Amino acid sequence: MPILNFDGRAYEGHEKETVLDILLKAGKEISHSCKTGRCQGCILHCKEGDLLPVSQNGLGEELTKEGYFLSCKCPLRHNLEVASPETHTFFQEATVVKKRQFSDTICQITLKVDPDFEFLPGQFVNLGRHEGVLRSYTLAGLPTEAGVIEIHVEKRPAGELSNWLYSDCRVGETLLLQGPHGQFYYRPDSRDQNLLLLGNGTGLASLMGVLKSAISNGHKGHIALYYNSDRLTGFYMHQTLRELEQKYESFHYFPCFSSLYFREGFRQGRADEAAFRDFPSLSGWKVYAAGFPSMVYTACSRARAAGVKVEDIFEEPFEMKDLRRTPRM
Ligand SMILES: Cc1cc2nc3c(=O)[nH]c(=O)nc-3n(C[C@H](O)[C@H](O)[C@H](O)COP(=O)(O)OP(=O)(O)OC[C@H]3O[C@@H](n4cnc5c(N)ncnc54)[C@H](O)[C@@H]3O)c2cc1C
Repeated sequence: MPILNFDGRAYEGHEKETVLDILLKAGKEISHSCKTGRCQGCILHCKEGDLLPVSQNGLGEELTKEGYFLSCKCPLRHNLEVASPETHTFFQEATVVKKRQFSDTICQITLKVDPDFEFLPGQFVNLGRHEGVLRSYTLAGLPTEAGVIEIHVEKRPAGELSNWLYSDCRVGETLLLQGPHGQFYYRPDSRDQNLLLLGNGTGLASLMGVLKSAISNGHKGHIALYYNSDRLTGFYMHQTLRELEQKYESFHYFPCFSSLYFREGFRQGRADEAAFRDFPSLSGWKVYAAGFPSMVYTACSRARAAGVKVEDIFEEPFEMKDLRRTPRM
């Protein structure tokens, strides 16, 4: 049976268990969230032993070379010696400089980071409190010289970090930040291509990142943004998007009401349903979909069926795992 050494102690594991499973079973506090390899919150450092390539999928070249890996994607096939990432090299500090309520469940938080921090709007970072909870949030704004970044946070029922960020986190609070990660960003080499942006929930943060980049790069093709909510308060950037539509001729905003009822001025149904009704054929387009996984995965398979090339489809499903240790009543 392979042995896992973690911070100087040995644990036995089965080949089918991941490094994360083994350490959680042993009662170790390992930060993690989606458990699908997407959020990258469960990163550990391998000190000794061979990693399977799958456990480093999606990590940048530098992290891969240095032996970092995703513990949720790493079955224990051989003996491994691993450690938590060193806080001072792996994380930087991010200080809350502004907070604004968008709605009764969504807020915008502006953070000050190192001015050298490089990212592409639409990518995500992992944010954590010093106590160890780490979750992913998307970068909705353009980079600034002053080094400030913008995120949108939706509070989830009993969600550990989102509730704290929404309700209790104050200006001046310092968080840990790691990243950026992900492929969800605007490509300036295809400025003439039409773009279809689909989202719900705070998936709009990812779409805003792409949209702002496209506008600031002088995008020439059409940009159609479909966003759905089943509550009117869910359209938390309605006014901003309407103003952008007035200002930029090639940008079109389609709010979609995804409840059973029809509402004047709104398309009916989910963002992907309304968009693919309007555009059954999308050959030559790029499609971006972000937000709740069920919408994102359906939207991407509809995009393929509508003739979009696989390399022109970008997905950002906000995968979340209910991490309660006691079962639901
Ligand atoms: C790539 C990526 C990008 C993301 N970007 C964003 C973003 O820009 N904005 C954003 O808001 N989120 C984003 N998310 C989601 C975010 O990372 C967190 O998962 C989310 O904020 C919830 O974290 P939490 O700690 O509050 O919830 P957790 O404590 O991790 O709980 C996870 C889920 O379980 C449910 N749950 C937990 N306990 C209970 C309970 N007692 N009863 C009922 N339900 C319960 C929660 O409601 C939640 O849905 C992103 C996720 C990914 C993977």
